[in-house]
Amino acid sequence: MKIEAKNKLNMTKKNTALHLDTLAVREAVPKSQYGENSESLYLTSSFTQPDCETAARRFAGEEEGYIYSRFTNPTVDSMERRLAALEGTEGAIATSSGMSAILLLVMGLLKAGDHVVCSRSVFGSTIKLLASEFGKFGVETTFVSQTDVLEWKAAIKPSTKLLFAESPTNPLTEVCDIQALADIAHNANCLLAVDNCFCTPALQRPASMGADIIVHSGTKYLDGQGRVIAGALCCSKQLIKDKFIPVMRSAGMSLSAFNAWVVLKGMETLGIRMEAQSARALAMATWLETLPGVARVYYPGLKSHPQHELAMRQQNQTGTGLGGAVVSFDVKASSPIEARARAFHLIDSTQLMSVTANLGDVKTIITHPASTSHGRLTEDQRQNAGIQQSLIRVAVGLEHLGDLQADLLRGFDTLT
Ligand SMILES: *Cc1c(COP(=O)(O)O)cnc(C)c1O
Repeated sequence: MKIEAKNKLNMTKKNTALHLDTLAVREAVPKSQYGENSESLYLTSSFTQPDCETAARRFAGEEEGYIYSRFTNPTVDSMERRLAALEGTEGAIATSSGMSAILLLVMGLLKAGDHVVCSRSVFGSTIKLLASEFGKFGVETTFVSQTDVLEWKAAIKPSTKLLFAESPTNPLTEVCDIQALADIAHNANCLLAVDNCFCTPALQRPASMGADIIVHSGTKYLDGQGRVIAGALCCSKQLIKDKFIPVMRSAGMSLSAFNAWVVLKGMETLGIRMEAQSARALAMATWLETLPGVARVYYPGLKSHPQHELAMRQQNQTGTGLGGAVVSFDVKASSPIEARARAFHLIDSTQLMSVTANLGDVKTIITHPASTSHGRLTEDQRQNAGIQQSLIRVAVGLEHLGDLQADLLRGFDTLT
């Protein structure tokens, strides 16, 4: 058997001279001796040790080497390296879901008595995890406005250790000023974590604006095809080594090698998917604004969006600001009851779009947030959050725009 010794295209260390598009395809651990062109899937629970002395050094962290897949696996390593290269951070640590990334974040950085400042508009499960679960362990969270930086500043106390933001938010696509929040955090000796799920590093790199930790749900655009649940934190090697690896080793919210491999391969097409899906989303948002049955459209790429300028500045990795692929809109109605009926009719009339609780897929997804993702809120809480019965969210995929428009028109044409 001929053994492939060359390893020229898989990078073993960071190469900052390469473009993001290249890193998305090439960054990984070195190839095996067989020279596989597609990255290997190392589906193994543990790794054999050459001898006891080596094993002892590896377990003590004195020598690099794979031990046990709860905390070290080459396929997971490849996924972490590729994501870190894209985010422009020193490292990344992969987790079993986006939520377990946030669990790892809080367990790694905080203790009872510590305080968090978090946007009121972040992902619903993030609010639950911080307020209900970590509240039980004495970590306190103050929720503030997504867009008013003065509220963030005013919420900081001596015990504040972490600021947590997400931009744009789900489903109203509100955008926060990441640089301003980083300045507030650092002046108060705190860390800023940013959930970059909606934009991905193909559009927005929070580390370049001062964020210390970037949170990902790999389930969404990183996989991009709705196949696996995955997550990650991207940050400095120091934080990973001192704060996150010890928790991962003990608590085991690890990403499986198989799921890491799916996300790793998904990232190869991240850039072109984000550009193509953002282009379709902008076209759809622009078109929706012209429909008489639509009261309001929420999309950062539209001039009518309250933080349009900021979004175009922050979401500018391609050199032309991109709005991302999530568009929300309110249907016109004269009462909440009529609004709910109209929204349901529109969604139920689609034949192409998927009615499902996900986003970030190449298959377009349509949802009614008030009765699904935000269904557990009271009507008052929903009104405060701006989630009306009239709201519909479309996570635009890669189908032809004309077919998607025709699919939405089915419901508009038959509205009574
Ligand atoms: C989906 C999502 C999460 C949670 O990720 P999972 O992989 O589903 O655990 C966190 N933040 C945002 C913004 C999300 O959309």
